[in-house]
Amino acid sequence: MSNVLIIGAGGVGNVVVHKCAQDPETFEEITIASRTRKKCDTIAASVKSRTGVDVATAQVDANDDSEVAFLIRETEADIVINVALPYQDLSIMDACLATGTAYLDTANYEPPEEAKFEYSWQWAYREQFEREGITAILGCGFDPGVTNAYCAYARDMLFDRIHTIDIVDCNDGDHGLPFATNFNPEINIREVTSKGKYWEKGQWIETEPMEIARSIDFPEVGVRTAYLLYHEEEESLVNNIPGLERIRFWMTFSDEYLTHLRVLQNVGMTGIEPVSFEGHEIVPLRFLKAILPDPGSLSEGYSGKTSIGCIFEGEADGEIRRRMIYNVCEHAKAHAEVGAQAVSYTTGVPAATGAALYLNGIWERPGVWNVEEFDTRPFLEEVAKRGLPWKLSDVDATCRGVCP
Ligand code: NDP
Repeated sequence: MSNVLIIGAGGVGNVVVHKCAQDPETFEEITIASRTRKKCDTIAASVKSRTGVDVATAQVDANDDSEVAFLIRETEADIVINVALPYQDLSIMDACLATGTAYLDTANYEPPEEAKFEYSWQWAYREQFEREGITAILGCGFDPGVTNAYCAYARDMLFDRIHTIDIVDCNDGDHGLPFATNFNPEINIREVTSKGKYWEKGQWIETEPMEIARSIDFPEVGVRTAYLLYHEEEESLVNNIPGLERIRFWMTFSDEYLTHLRVLQNVGMTGIEPVSFEGHEIVPLRFLKAILPDPGSLSEGYSGKTSIGCIFEGEADGEIRRRMIYNVCEHAKAHAEVGAQAVSYTTGVPAATGAALYLNGIWERPGVWNVEEFDTRPFLEEVAKRGLPWKLSDVDATCRGVCP
């Protein structure tokens, strides 16, 4: 018997549950738990109507490791897929340690009071997980996640040495609303309002937020303006791609999104420091999250595609080679299949796939690991079968506009 406990019933949680239900041979018993049980019940009802599979639901406060441990014991889960928020990563890891259960997430731990985007807290659990014989898989969404696997594939199969990596992420979709974020608004806005950062010649170089932009030619989408951001997978890839000279991350934003964000920032609505309001302490960004559209609700009528990939320059057989690996995902197709938009879909499919590889013994490896530290070839094969096929192409000397 393989039981899975999924924590978090947002846009990504919805996809993970549907994808697990599509593979009943691997996931025999599925439980979805979250802070608000009603959202779990809605997902379970959708899964039942689409696949006929029964999904159990539960309420849990994942900030409390003893509540999570209780639920793990009750459900006899073999793995916990954490698609709640990054604030809950450590309490869920603690519960996994206490119960001897495998762990998988899609975003690094974040302390609520400061945007950090780093793995140090979770990497500190390495020895404990190893000693207890428990597997923890970090960052198994799309980026991080599939992008790490593309890098591992390029490292192992395409190049003798990779010089540079540019991870390029375009959401060319239209949800029809003036302003909404495609995943949790609080985490999204913390990410895009932070300083940019990239790795070059052995050091991190910091930039102002959105300081550097490029016109990048995204496969199946066309030329779009993308901005250099710091993204957490850069931290682990720097360690795991030998000889890497530079790694950068680029993401597109529409003018409409940037204008709204600028105004919200200028009036103080994106702050994470508590402020006093009519006798209550409130965090402006949390209040903003409460009034913005729920990312999970955007999928109806969402048109367009995401186009996300990695562009590599390096040496193979004594020659300089430039290649790209990427996936294109249509919002409308994701909606038709599981009632989700493509950003949730591209995150949830790899999370369910990573858990399946663990349960099938392929990714069972005590310790705390990032995706590129596993054998990523079976992962990429399975991710393709489960809805995210990938393509490999040569690129010209401009690397589709991202170089130099
Ligand atoms: P949502 O905000 O839509 O969903 C988050 C869910 O977590 C909600 O159901 C929420 O409950 C629940 N939750 C929050 N706090 C707790 C708690 N203390 N206990 C239990 N449940 C809790 O987010 P998304 O689904 O968009 O994103 C989920 C995760 O995926 C995030 O960590 C995000 O950063 C990550 N992500 C990763 C990507 C990747 O490619 N690697 C891309 C996109 C997202 P409630 O409904 O009550 O608020």
